[in-house]
Amino acid sequence: MKDNIRSIVIIGGGIGGLSAGIYAQRQGFESTILEKNTAPGGQCTGWDRNGYHIDGCIHWLTGTKDGGPLNALWREVGALDGVEIVHPESFLCFEQDGLRACIYRDLERLERSWIELSPEDADVVREFCADVKLLQGFSFPVDKPTDLMGPVERLRTMLSMKDAGKILKKYGKMTLQEFAGRFRCPALREGFGSMAPEWYNAAMIFFAIAAFTANEASIPAGGSRALSMRMADTYRRLGGRIETSSEARTLEIAGRRVRSVVCSDGRRFPAEYVIAACDAAFVYRTLLDNRYPDPAFEKRFADPIAYPLASEVLVAVGFAGRTTELAEPMPWSMSFPVEPFTIHGRPIRRLTVKQFSHEPGFAPHGKTLLICDINQYQHDYDAWSRLSREEYWLQKRRLGDAVTRALEARFPEMRERLEILDVATPKTYERYCNAYRGAFMAFFPTVKGKMMAHTGRIKGLDNMVLSGQWLQPPGGLPAALLTGRDAIMRLCRKTGRAFV
Ligand SMILES: Cc1cc2nc3c(=O)[nH]c(=O)nc-3n(C[C@H](O)[C@H](O)[C@H](O)COP(=O)(O)OP(=O)(O)OC[C@H]3O[C@@H](n4cnc5c(N)ncnc54)[C@H](O)[C@@H]3O)c2cc1C
Repeated sequence: MKDNIRSIVIIGGGIGGLSAGIYAQRQGFESTILEKNTAPGGQCTGWDRNGYHIDGCIHWLTGTKDGGPLNALWREVGALDGVEIVHPESFLCFEQDGLRACIYRDLERLERSWIELSPEDADVVREFCADVKLLQGFSFPVDKPTDLMGPVERLRTMLSMKDAGKILKKYGKMTLQEFAGRFRCPALREGFGSMAPEWYNAAMIFFAIAAFTANEASIPAGGSRALSMRMADTYRRLGGRIETSSEARTLEIAGRRVRSVVCSDGRRFPAEYVIAACDAAFVYRTLLDNRYPDPAFEKRFADPIAYPLASEVLVAVGFAGRTTELAEPMPWSMSFPVEPFTIHGRPIRRLTVKQFSHEPGFAPHGKTLLICDINQYQHDYDAWSRLSREEYWLQKRRLGDAVTRALEARFPEMRERLEILDVATPKTYERYCNAYRGAFMAFFPTVKGKMMAHTGRIKGLDNMVLSGQWLQPPGGLPAALLTGRDAIMRLCRKTGRAFV
């Protein structure tokens, strides 16, 4: 018998929750989003400081190519309505020993420039570019989740993944460090080698660069917060209700059904169906009080080597000038060596900085927003957690100073013209989004780990599912969008509605 569900409570107003909400409204359900913060968006956000707007998320958004299947979905949820797409000339430039190697959008230019920089790497570079090219036409299947597909659709999907399969077979057991070690050029070797943790799977870098060089991964003008707000507007226009400052704390469960969601301020939201579009560990361990553990997640949480989580320190800096004043062009994003400084004893030898000159509205007139990201892993999070309140603020200030010094050393024109705007840490993401260990994406893919595709079903409960980026590691914005939509497709199947 089909379930007669009409109303849905969605926990979490990030991209996953907004996506679930928009598709729920489109299919005729009545939905309410409970969001713990004062505004929706979750990790896809930005905030204002000293006249600057700090963009806290999008380095690149997959699905920006007009006419692509993912692009159609971003448009369907209003994320890209009337928005200019910024296509940076390069994705990231690596500097080392006076050399600069850029991952150019134009793959032929990339190949030419790398061979020019390091002729002894010509064969490796050509092979790299040929493999990237193979993936340029690949797009992740977005029609429906595999569990809703019939045998013919599954076969078609498998066939469409042929080229991806080739790359996964060739590089899936190679670490990024091993891949980086193929290059003699120090900029490429050091640059690629420092991008991810020790066991990170090299194949993933091919997917990212293929998407970028195929114009499929660029930056929507206005940034992360504006994108989330457009989705929130779409949701409200469709009749959806967002309850902000509403943190779900407990669930009232009777038998196999959740009856209501109770917020930290005591308000109760009766629920016919619940979609938890928030952090997986928070859902299983806190909301469900460890009563419905999921083996696939528990296995991953217990093995941080095979399934590492990454968070970051984000240092936002205001530059009282324009990048055109610098002696050499400053690319959108660059990674360069620095005089080592430490975070909790771990030496930081390289820094990645993004500059937002394409967003004049993010800075006061004549100034530029700069953002430095420093990856943080298992031990870093533990060390941040051990600090007292005073030590925590001191450490943030110390890091802001270290980053400023590193920027001034690399760009002497910036001396005396930098202002630390904010320093976010793994604890910030934990506090803001309930993100497990401050993780900004789901488990990083490594050569030791296995892929996970989770339906979101919570064993033991008939009317609650998990959604959001954790269902499709390594996560990211497209995963959040798709899993929100998938949750509603499954609900339509369950309730006998056609998904239109
Ligand atoms: C610094 C940074 C850079 C990134 N860069 C990129 C990028 O360039 N490209 C890309 O694709 N992805 C990027 N990401 C990842 C991307 O932001 C996430 O994958 C995506 O936003 C996750 O969406 P989500 O809805 O699954 O989860 P979240 O964004 O975590 O949303 C969950 C929501 O639930 C709310 N919530 C949690 N618990 C409760 C509760 N109990 N009650 C009510 N509400 C609750 C949270 O406040 C949050 O709003 C980046 C993330 C960060 C932090």
